[in-house]
Amino acid sequence: MKTMDLSFSEEIKRYGSEDFYTCYSCGNCTAVCSLTEKNANFPRMMIRHGMLGLKDEILSSKELWLCYACGDCTETCPRQADPGHYMAALRRYAIAYYEPTGLTRLIFKSNPFAIVLTIILSFILGLFLFTLKPDHEVARWIFKWLPFDVVHDMGMVIFILTGISMVIGLFNMFRHLSGKNQPAKERRNSFFQIMRHLADEFGTFRRYQKCDREEESFWQTKPWYVRPWAIHWTIMWGFLGLLAATTLDFIFKDPAMKIWWPSRILGTVAGLLMMYGATLALWYRFKRITKSYSESHLADWMFLGFLWVAGLTGFWLEIAVAFDSDSVVNHVTFLIHTVISMELVLLFAFSKFAHAIYRPLALFFYFREKG
Ligand code: SF4
Ligand code: SF4
Repeated sequence: MKTMDLSFSEEIKRYGSEDFYTCYSCGNCTAVCSLTEKNANFPRMMIRHGMLGLKDEILSSKELWLCYACGDCTETCPRQADPGHYMAALRRYAIAYYEPTGLTRLIFKSNPFAIVLTIILSFILGLFLFTLKPDHEVARWIFKWLPFDVVHDMGMVIFILTGISMVIGLFNMFRHLSGKNQPAKERRNSFFQIMRHLADEFGTFRRYQKCDREEESFWQTKPWYVRPWAIHWTIMWGFLGLLAATTLDFIFKDPAMKIWWPSRILGTVAGLLMMYGATLALWYRFKRITKSYSESHLADWMFLGFLWVAGLTGFWLEIAVAFDSDSVVNHVTFLIHTVISMELVLLFAFSKFAHAIYRPLALFFYFREKG
């Protein structure tokens, strides 16, 4: 039986979609969306679900994650219901719902809370970093107030809790996507076929590219490398490349001085890719270049801003190491870089960043049934 939650529409407004209630179900948005399909119908259907308070339908829907927020539907809506941002608000709602601690809910619904939490967390992480050098004068000052073990163990507990929240969040989503709301299918793709589809999707963003090729699209006449799919691609692969480079550095204990070392080259190329994408994405939002970039949630700014600062400080340090420069400015830059990078990891399960694990899982279920 379908459960209706009549307070649901009010709840969605608090995640950033104010106007979806003006929708009169004309279907223009679905007609114009290049990613909607016979068996994956959105965004009109999602708006109907929202208006009727069919919360479970939304939480167990793969369609929510098939949308790449191109905003074509918003451009054509005669009622200014803004279906593109409605889909983004639903994704925030879903991330907050799956995550078990309730912290994501507070972060997405209250901007002041998100800002204060980020500042406090930066401070704690900064202190935590000093505990790794217990003979440093700042560390000695900290230990006058807080014992070394307390600061160190507190940091470790926060990291472990983040990991657990992420695993439970994924499990919650899995439960919804594989639950009783799903239609029975006669034929399903094999694991190998699904993986092939996923590799193609994330390797080429073939589906996302469809949005930018639409005749009416603002991007249709623009070069491919400034289009939203390419920006998303560079951010994603740049970040993954940096993650791989950092892991290789850690495994091989690479002396950071050697810039020709393969992991350093990988890190530099990946960092450039990520900086390129993050800079353009921030610029588009700042200039409100299209409707899809016109209303950014704080979560969007924070996610991109963190990536950008982490990338910039990373390059600064790369140059400082290459020139063997040992100054206070470089030490402060190192502190900022490490705190921001750790904060990105720590807030992974509680921020927009979490879409990086939820979307692939939803696409796994989508490709399982796709012919
Ligand atoms: S969101 Fe706009 S375009 Fe879509 S069905 Fe509603 S009124 Fe029509
Ligand atoms: S934002 Fe783009 S991909 Fe998402 S529903 Fe609208 S038209 Fe489709």
